[in-house]
Amino acid sequence: MEKRDYYEVLGVSKNASEDEIKSAFRKLAKKYHPDINKDPDAPEKFKEVQEAYAVLSDKNKRSQYDQFGHAAFENNGQAGFGGAGGFDFSGFDINLDDILENVFGNGYGFSSRSRGKRKSRGRDILKEINLTFEEAVFGCEKNISVDVSSKCPSCDGEGGFDKSTCSTCHGSGMVTKEQSTLFGSFMTKTTCPTCHGEGSTYKKHCTKCRGTGVIRENKTLTVKIPSGIDTGNRLRLSGKGEASSDGGENGDLYLEFTVREHDYFKRDNDDIYLEVPLTITEATLGCKKDIRTISSVITLAVPSGTQTGDKERIKNRGIKNSTTGRTGDMYIIYKVIIPKKLTREQKNLFEKLQETNLNTTEIDKFNNFVEKE
Ligand SMILES: [Zn+2]
Ligand SMILES: [Zn+2]
Repeated sequence: MEKRDYYEVLGVSKNASEDEIKSAFRKLAKKYHPDINKDPDAPEKFKEVQEAYAVLSDKNKRSQYDQFGHAAFENNGQAGFGGAGGFDFSGFDINLDDILENVFGNGYGFSSRSRGKRKSRGRDILKEINLTFEEAVFGCEKNISVDVSSKCPSCDGEGGFDKSTCSTCHGSGMVTKEQSTLFGSFMTKTTCPTCHGEGSTYKKHCTKCRGTGVIRENKTLTVKIPSGIDTGNRLRLSGKGEASSDGGENGDLYLEFTVREHDYFKRDNDDIYLEVPLTITEATLGCKKDIRTISSVITLAVPSGTQTGDKERIKNRGIKNSTTGRTGDMYIIYKVIIPKKLTREQKNLFEKLQETNLNTTEIDKFNNFVEKE
């Protein structure tokens, strides 16, 4: 297949700015990332986008490309573009991991940090945690059980006991075979069949992990959940994810929270909203009214003439968020309840009230407007 023009790949013009190139790359990397896009063409497209970006984001490479096109990078052993091993970003001043983390959030699911190192990092785990409104607001301690693979304690991750150098390959992990053919004899190197390339063997295999060095276990962690957690927030527990299969660092454990709604309190970040129902006389005459904040009972002085929808702010009675260090406010929203059923006595009183003039200027104005025509 003919190689496409790098500017065309990113969909930018020949004189696009660095920012335009970066933003085009972000968009496309997100679109074609194989972990997101399951289209069979996606990995190929993703590689193409990465390659174009690697060149166009580097001043020197971009000017070479502008002058010579693709020929600038062909057959000179440079960087191995398009090779099976993917693209090497180590020489560029923009880190692909940073960009992908920027694009996809806090690194979850893309354990690319260890890319390029020999040892692989264990997988990250995502665990969903439900919290009651109170647990989220005040913070809490939770016992969280996770199934993780971890280093076998019996053999310390080795997979066996009494390690000794492999007698077949003498520790190199490779064996050389001589093959004779009509055209002469060839030496071929293959992975040692005795130790499978490890270079060492064990006198006794570990039965607990069946020689894998890793066991599956259910762990219970006691986690302190900070106050102020909201639905969708994530907490990262570094190193509490899966063990690496080859002695690399552990993955991380992410807790993602869902906070149950409260019957009365509504939340907007760290602010708390409470709807307070008033009788028609309480609202008209004003009153003292006991209400609950998230931590105590307080008495409100409801002013006379309070209307449905009137709002009152009570400073610092919201959530103390230990992550941001901020304390939210509490908002009272009044709702006047008009009675639907009246006793005979109440009805009499309302009828008497009716005979008085309850018109406000607003009502008078409206009546004038109606009578005009
Ligand atoms: Zn061997
Ligand atoms: Zn073991």
